[in-house]
Parts: sequence; C-alpha cells; structure tokens
Amino acid sequence: MPPRRANAATMHSDPGATPVSALPGVGPALAETLARLGLERVQDLWFHLPLRYEDRTRVTAIADLRPGERAQVEGVVEAVERGFRYRPQLKVAITDDSRQTLVLRFFHFNRSQSEQLKPGTRLLCYGEARQAAQGLEMVHPQYQRLSGDEPAAVDELLTPVYPTTEGLGQKRLAGVIAKALALLPQDAQLELIPAELCTEHGLTSLREALLYVHRPPPDANLGQLTTGRHPAQQRLAFEELLTQHLSLKRMRAAVRRRHSPRLQGTGELRERLLAGLPFGLTGAQQRVSAEIAKDIAQANPMLRLVQGDVGSGKTIVAALAALAAVESGQQVALMAPTELLAEQHRHHFTHWLTPLGIEVAWLAGKVTGKARQQALQRVASGAHVVIGTHALMQEGVSFAQLGLVIVDEQHRFGVQQRLSLRDKGADHEAGLVPHQLVLTATPIPRTLAMSAYADLDVSSIDELPPGRTPVQTIAISNARRFDVIERIHAACLEGRQAYWVCTLIEESEQLRAQAAEVAHAELSAALSDCRIGLIHGRMKPKEKQVVMDSFKAGELSVLVSTTVIEVGVDVPNASLMVIENSERLGLAQLHQLRGRVGRGAIASNCVLLYQPPLGQLARERLQVMRDTNDGFRIAEKDLELRGPGEVLGTRQTGQLSFRIADLSRDAHLLPAVQQVGEQLLAHHPQQAEGLIARWIGAAARYAHA
Ligand code: ADP
Ligand code: MG
Repeated sequence: MPPRRANAATMHSDPGATPVSALPGVGPALAETLARLGLERVQDLWFHLPLRYEDRTRVTAIADLRPGERAQVEGVVEAVERGFRYRPQLKVAITDDSRQTLVLRFFHFNRSQSEQLKPGTRLLCYGEARQAAQGLEMVHPQYQRLSGDEPAAVDELLTPVYPTTEGLGQKRLAGVIAKALALLPQDAQLELIPAELCTEHGLTSLREALLYVHRPPPDANLGQLTTGRHPAQQRLAFEELLTQHLSLKRMRAAVRRRHSPRLQGTGELRERLLAGLPFGLTGAQQRVSAEIAKDIAQANPMLRLVQGDVGSGKTIVAALAALAAVESGQQVALMAPTELLAEQHRHHFTHWLTPLGIEVAWLAGKVTGKARQQALQRVASGAHVVIGTHALMQEGVSFAQLGLVIVDEQHRFGVQQRLSLRDKGADHEAGLVPHQLVLTATPIPRTLAMSAYADLDVSSIDELPPGRTPVQTIAISNARRFDVIERIHAACLEGRQAYWVCTLIEESEQLRAQAAEVAHAELSAALSDCRIGLIHGRMKPKEKQVVMDSFKAGELSVLVSTTVIEVGVDVPNASLMVIENSERLGLAQLHQLRGRVGRGAIASNCVLLYQPPLGQLARERLQVMRDTNDGFRIAEKDLELRGPGEVLGTRQTGQLSFRIADLSRDAHLLPAVQQVGEQLLAHHPQQAEGLIARWIGAAARYAHA
C-alpha cells in the first residue's frame, strides 16, 4: 500500500504514535517548528504541559489589584503621557468604576499604538500589577481596545501558557494541542501503569488529569494550579518522576551489562600506604573502602557515588581504590573541577604514592606545548595515575589501559561528562569500560539520591576523623567590619591562621581579583605586623601554589582569596574564616567554604560578614549556617530554598528539567515512585519502555541509539 497521510481510521490503533503532521492544519512548516520543541508525535502534544495559567475569566477592579499578581482589568484611558527622559516611553493612565487609577507603561511602542490609546478609549488589559512610586502599574500589559459600550468578553476557561519557541504563538500552539487532545483515547488504552498498581497507590485517571491541566475549568483552584499542587498535576508529576527513575535505571542497567577489568590486587600496596599514614582510617572510611573494593573486583563496571561532608577524608579512600587498579596493571584517571583542587590532589597523591613506586602524571588545561605532548605521551604509554581537570576528557587524550575513573566534586560535572570519560575505556576494542567512582562533598539529599542519582550506588562517609571541633559561626554586619579585623589581628598574634574570602559575584575573574586585591591592601594596612597572602583565579598555577605552600607552612597569617579556595583546600592549622558578602552566596557554597576550617584540633570560627539590609532568603540561609554544621541538613535546606536544578548545578545543562514535577515539592511521591518503578521493571518492561517513549520521547530514542 502506498504511504498516505494518516486519517482517523489509521490513527485508531495508536493515536499517540501518530506524527503531528497527520493533524488537520499541521503542514510541513508548522511540523518543523513543533519538532524544534520536541513535539513530533500526537502524544508529545498531550504531554506538552502548561507552564502556568492566566485567569481571564473575570475582570478585577483596579482597587482590588494586588502587587505581584497577574490580573485582567477593564478601564477607560484618562491620560496619556509620552516621556523621553531616559528612553522613550508611553504612560497610559486608566481608571474604572472602582475610581482607582492604574498606569500602563510601555517602553516599546509604535506610532499607531500611541495614537490609538487616546483618552476615552476603553481597554481590556492583562498583566502583572506592580507597585511603582506613584501607585500601581502594569509594564507592557497585553491589551485590546473595546468599542462602544460593548461589554468586555471574558474567557470561559483559564488560559494555559505553554513553553513555546520563536514563530509559534500561544494561540496557534494551543490550537494544535486541542486537536491532539481530541484524539486522546480512554484510560484503558492510554494508561501504561497497570491497574492494580494504580489502585494500590491511589493514582487517578490519566486522561482526566491531562484534560484538566490543559483546560482547567473556571472554578479551578488557581493557587493550587500555579504551585503545581493540584491533584491532576500531582498525578502527572508522579508519572513523570516514575519515567525519569525508569530511564536512569535503564541507563544504569545498560552500563552494568558492559564489562570492566577486575581490579583486585594483592593488597600489598594498600598495606604499605596505610602503614605510612600518620592516622588510622575511620570506621566509615573502612566501610566505604571495602564497598568500593568489592565493586571494582567485579567484571562489570562500578558506578558508585561516595558522599562525605567536607573534611570527612574522601581523598585517602580514593587513593586506596587507585592502588587496587595499579596492582591490576590498570591506569587511574582522577578528575577535579578546578585546577587548584586538581593540584591539591596531585600533591596528596604524589606524597602518598610515589614512595610506593607509582607514577603520577599531571594533565591540566594550562599544560600546553611540549609539556603537554610529554604528558600525553606518558598517559598513552601507561602512567599509573593521571590527575587533572576536565582537560582529561578532551580529544587527543588516550589512555593505554584505563581501568578506574575517579571524579571529585561530582555536582559540577554532568552525566554527559561522566559518560565521555567512560568512553575513554580501558580497552575499547574489547568493549571494556572503566569503573567509576564519584566523590562529592555536597551531600545529596536522600530524595535526590533516589531520583537524579538513580544511576549510581551511594556510599556515605558519615563520620568525621576524630578530634575535630565543630565550627562556631556568627553573622556580622559589614558596619562592624573593623571589629572583625581587630579580632583577626588578635587571633594572628596568637599564632592562628585565617582565611578572608571575597565573594564578589561579578562575572569577570578580573573584577573578582580586583576585589580581593582591595581587601588584601586593606588588611595589610590594618595588620601591619602580620603577613597577608593573596590568591585569586587570575594568578598562574605556579604562583597560586607558592602562596598556598607558604600558607600551609604557616608563613602567612591571613590568606585573602576569591572563592578559588572553595573546594578541597586543606590547611589544618587555619581556624578562622571570614566570608565577605556572605548574603550573596548559596548554602552549598557557604558550607564548602566553611569546611576549609575546623580541620585541626583547634576550635574554629567562621564569620559571615553581610551587607545589610538582608532579604528574607539571605536571612534564612545565614540562620541555617549558624544553626548547624551538618552537611546533610544544609543540603536538605538548600534544596528547599533553591530547588534541585541549582543544587545539582545542572540548571544550564537542563538535565533535570521536568515538565511538571518538582523534586523538592513532590519529594513525598518518591517512595511510591520507587515501588512502582521496581514492579514495572520486574513485571512489565514493555510498559516501562512505553513510559520512557512517552515522556522523554526524542531524547530517549537518541540515548537508545
Ligand atoms: P574531603 O573529604 O573534604 O576531601 P580530605 O580527604 O581532604 O577531605 O581530608 C581532610 C583532612 O583529613 C586531610 O588532611 C586528611 O589527611 C585528613 N584525614 C583523612 N582521613 C583521616 C583520618 N581517618 N584521621 C585523621 N585525619 C584524616
Ligand atoms: Mg576533597
């Protein structure tokens, strides 16, 4: 039979799988635009969910408008003013029966627009009311002119606002979605979660949930809908979380089916390293180390996340894993997110491993020219341990026998980056992939560990080495900066060492460096009898190392720095930390910074300098920092305050972008998600595939390839 456009009859079997071009009115051009949004099949349209809703079902009196709220108002133009002071603008004052005035403000307008908005004109406007100096205003509201006495025609349903793309207006998109919804089958055909599981977990009709979120009735609870807490949205959020869980599990299963070299040495190197350490491992370190050893002795790849609070001693655990690889004749790559952190690792690994006859190679982005060629040569000819930044993943870096990849501070790398290192596998021809060990100091809240990290096994180093004293934290207004400097002075005279961290958020490294230079000058002047060092991101790695070394050696009392010291830096004698502009930093970053002190036996202090007035969020963050040193509590709180995308640092890469689910809001769904997920994978794999195809669509098809 010749191919032809699908019609109602051919769509009957699986309307969802029908290409969008089969819908009436969807020609090739529109189909192409839709494809840019990932909307290729009819079911992609069913699951293209509104971002928010606009309520144009009623008209709000101007007197009842509240700042921050979006609303529809009807009014008569009473005055028009064109201004040019800073840039052209048009101000249109309207009034209604409530006898209040609302200003409509336009910065972009054309002549005909300004001519049409004459006094006496009746308008129906929709926009967000905000408080301005002279009263309420709306900036660039949508509006339409009403003619004569004709009453404003309000909508009957809430208006969904969809994610869209250039060249596709809301109305047109909503029209296509409506056509797709007309093909929505009954639940019996639509539902992919088996009926008994739906009953068990109280999952309501999928069809009704979809129809509801696309076309909420006028009496729908807009507050609930806006916050995603409506039962219909929760039903869909459940399915979306389930799908993401399934897809991560599937990814993991696919990796698990591959083969890796067994890393199981004699344990001799391990014994020798441990014997030379000035400390014994904590119970948690021993346990996690054993978990890793067991994993890497298998012929399938390990995918393990080791989480441990700052200072919990992850580095030595990683070094022990590296030894097993070396004893098995395999190479180890250790990758860190910043050059400084990579250098710290290099320092420790060289110190620990070279006495054992192990070769430690160095490959960072700044290694160039001949040095780079030599490093590459060493890597290719089998250097035991290779340490570096993401430069390790670049093209042209090839390993002889890569058996273990260690990634530190995982939250800065994405899944993609993890995968690309994996592909530098030990013996690609033979299909061997390296084992993967991921270290993170940002504890992953349980809820995220269950979903975002479902592709990894998790070990926790939940115990700090003995003798650490918790850091006392206080917040002080910048108005009392001088007192703080005095306090540092006194501490330095007692032989203590301090960090002074400048945290300008400015995008350029140059401005950040300048701020640090200014603080350095200020402190040098105030503390003329102490030695003050400076370190920032614009310095050469060698220069940074020199400064770090003299701080470590106790030759400097104060180290002024930008946030380059955020991760991994280890100077046990430093017991005082001042963080400037602490109100601008997120919790995770504050916690990381504070983790630089409290590493020795001396009682440590952290001063959070802030610039008043404090906003609500900043106030809460500083309070959390004062209340606790517990990384897990801080991470949970961080998730609550910021949302998971930012906590994981994946916002830009969009890895964790959900259409409807929100990990912090919907965390209560996760236990059931996991149970249903297990059941589906065990007993209904077809359905699991169906869910992935439905929700992840094009991306999943790609990942499968
Ligand atoms: P993190 O988990 O933040 O990466 P590190 O591995 O840098 O922590 O360890 C922090 C400090 O604690 C280092 O100086 C390290 O040598 C030391 N350390 C690690 N394990 C122990 C232990 N069991 N006992 C005492 N000190 C330890
Ligand atoms: Mg570390």
